[in-house]
Amino acid sequence: MRNKVEEIRQILMEHNRLFSDSIPLIASENITSPAVDEAANCDMSHRYAEGWVGQRVYAGCKYIDMVEDICMELAKEYFKCIHADVRPISGVVANLAMYNAFTSDNNGKMLIMPIPKGGHISHAPKFTKSGMAIYGTAGTVRGLNIEYMAFDNDEMNLDVDKTAKIIRSFEPELVLFGGSVFLFPHPVKELSEVAKEVGANVGYDAAHVAGLIGSGYFQDPLREGADVMTMSTHKTLPGPQHGTLVSNREDLIETLRSCTFPALLSNHHLHNVAALAVAFAEMLEFGKEYHKNVIQNAKALAQALNERGINVLMEHKGFTESHQIVVDITKFEKTIGLGGDIEALLEKCNIILNRNLLPWDIQEGRHYQNPGGLRLGTSEVTRLGMGKTEMEDIAEFIKKVIVDKSDPKKIREQVIEFKKGFQEIKYCFQSPNKAYEYIKFY
Ligand SMILES: *Cc1c(COP(=O)(O)O)cnc(C)c1O
Repeated sequence: MRNKVEEIRQILMEHNRLFSDSIPLIASENITSPAVDEAANCDMSHRYAEGWVGQRVYAGCKYIDMVEDICMELAKEYFKCIHADVRPISGVVANLAMYNAFTSDNNGKMLIMPIPKGGHISHAPKFTKSGMAIYGTAGTVRGLNIEYMAFDNDEMNLDVDKTAKIIRSFEPELVLFGGSVFLFPHPVKELSEVAKEVGANVGYDAAHVAGLIGSGYFQDPLREGADVMTMSTHKTLPGPQHGTLVSNREDLIETLRSCTFPALLSNHHLHNVAALAVAFAEMLEFGKEYHKNVIQNAKALAQALNERGINVLMEHKGFTESHQIVVDITKFEKTIGLGGDIEALLEKCNIILNRNLLPWDIQEGRHYQNPGGLRLGTSEVTRLGMGKTEMEDIAEFIKKVIVDKSDPKKIREQVIEFKKGFQEIKYCFQSPNKAYEYIKFY
């Protein structure tokens, strides 16, 4: 078994090398700073501390309580709210806590973004598609009765009037905003008013955009009518893989706490709570500048790709207001293939991004395996210090691969060379701040 351990070690080192040699453009990913990594490697990774700070069911929690308290305080400061639960171990778990709080056990009704237009599978019902069962989290775990908001493909956003009608006729208990394809702020303010008319609570899944929101960009759901905002802590917010739930509803705090623990958790991954506290501190210091640049880079990358004959959606609205852009690659279907094929080809060139359904793909007969689109995000490349010039460089690499059909081996070499200049993590306190090291010593 010594050989197995060595084999695993080699694989992990290769993985780190892959990312250090690549252009990382997955919109749901980011990279953590050395201080976040250090905290995530602390002894708390093998401890228990069930319950709320000061009311644990375990001994040995003195320092865990201190660090979790700091984490909650920083979360409240970052999101300007009175309640932050940093125990959900992921975005999906934070969503489940929200469903527990706001929906009935039996056939509770929830209204969500349509999944093929960018809604998330954790919001989805259990359904059957081409004879296959799809186990959407909300349906499978809570048995919810789920309807969809109306989506306007031309605006890449929710249709306010049509969705208002659906809220009034469906009368959901929970109206849930947010999604995984998320270019523009959702009309939370307008539709929350309608939701309140029918007695619904309003949720906002900020998994993708939590960092943008905390730093003061995109939109401010808690002040636009959302009762609860859930999130992953590792997408635009560059923390460890974890989740958080925040709220300004004083009257709900007790319920929300219980809906996380004991309802969903025993252990809550204490090392990640410590690491998340560090990430909040970093973003309270550097988030304004970092996230401003993330959004600017997304717009710059979109512009640069569009100028090179690669169609980025939503030019008439400046492409995006977030960290993401969506590209329509259907014109390359005959020469290269669709989203899945292009994703694979770009990976050969060390450009890592993912395929994505376009809102009209399903109607046009394309499906998730090989859709008509790509989704790109600028969170990680920005954290490595890239700016407008580099967005043009990246667009040029992508053009060479899919428009000019250059030799992937050649492009790969050029990408590795290019990436050598971006091996340090910016927007954090310490130095040196090397990215992608296999083992970090501090
Ligand atoms: C990524 C994502 C999630 C899932 O988050 P995890 O932290 O991976 O559990 C939930 N909701 C949305 C909208 C997402 O994009």
